[in-house]
Amino acid sequence: MTREFAERQSQIEAYIRSHREEMLQALRDAVEIKSPSVYAEGTNAAIAFFHSLVPELDAKVTRLSGGTYGDHLLLESKNCSSPCIFFVGHVDTVFPVGTEWPFSIEGSNAYGPGVIDMKSGVITLLYGLKALQATGGIPFSYKVLLNTDEEMGSPSSKNYLPELAKGVDYAFIFEPAQPDGRVINTRKGIGKFDVYVTGKAAHAGKSPETGINAVLEMAHQIINAENLARKEMLTTMNAGFVEGGQSAFIVAPSAHAEIESRIVIPEEQKRVEAGMAALADKTHVPGTTVRVTGGFHRPPLVRRPGSELLEAAVLKAAELMGLKIEFSMSGAASDGNNLSGYGIPVIDGMGPVGGREHSHDEYLELETLYERTELLALSLLALVER
Ligand SMILES: [Zn+2]
Repeated sequence: MTREFAERQSQIEAYIRSHREEMLQALRDAVEIKSPSVYAEGTNAAIAFFHSLVPELDAKVTRLSGGTYGDHLLLESKNCSSPCIFFVGHVDTVFPVGTEWPFSIEGSNAYGPGVIDMKSGVITLLYGLKALQATGGIPFSYKVLLNTDEEMGSPSSKNYLPELAKGVDYAFIFEPAQPDGRVINTRKGIGKFDVYVTGKAAHAGKSPETGINAVLEMAHQIINAENLARKEMLTTMNAGFVEGGQSAFIVAPSAHAEIESRIVIPEEQKRVEAGMAALADKTHVPGTTVRVTGGFHRPPLVRRPGSELLEAAVLKAAELMGLKIEFSMSGAASDGNNLSGYGIPVIDGMGPVGGREHSHDEYLELETLYERTELLALSLLALVER
């Protein structure tokens, strides 16, 4: 480690230490802004609030239309020093207006809607950049995207990613770290399929032979779909919802199932999609017709060329802080999945440590708000100064 790096580290630590109160107040203010994805007024307010935290960045500011959602905020550095790093956070939460509960601190944890998913993550992102700016400047070019629709699957903001991903060397996502502190370098991709079977109704007692049982056909279809799972490749299939028929004394005229697939290996997408489409070609109950719709809407987040450099930078930063950081896979998806789909090395779970997100027990280990802010700032320095 160079002497300059050690000096910079102590400056960053001093910056964060002297801004602890301010960061906590910012978190409290952010959590108290009601910002469920479907409440554009609230997500717009959250965007404006987070933007107000970084006047010193002197970034180019663009509001990207969110359609029926709030506007997304894009901040871009004016300088163009390489590498170009993309930071993505979301300001929306899953809690409808009227179901919120107040921000609170009990023991070493903070509570409140979105406290870990991911308002504290956005604070980490912004204060990581602020700390660099205040201690000698930000030595790379960057794009910061704060979006308002991630919890809905980013239906609006993901349309901007193909353009925004151009020229990006690395991406950092600020979803929470795992409850045990691990950072995320792999996420499963998600496919969702609907299977519809059409048969023919008949009285099950008087004339069963004139009916065609769609529920029976669906039973075969579900087994065939589940057989697309590949344990050794971590490809899963889940027939999680099924409906059909009218009553026990009527031969079932129709059935519908929702089937999800999760994959880790990108090539599995083609195989599963082809396998699901092929279900319609082979029926078991004569006279039924089968229709399959859907596909993968989130590619997996996988390690790409350059991911090893990102991971090495995070490990180096952790070592300098005396932290033990490991990497892990998550079965849940994030905006990191979409960015990984463009071939960008992505590190996710760079937000603070906490858990039970999407529930009223959602919590943040408060001390990790400061810890992960330092981890981010040092990781970025290690990445560009290697
Ligand atoms: Zn999230």
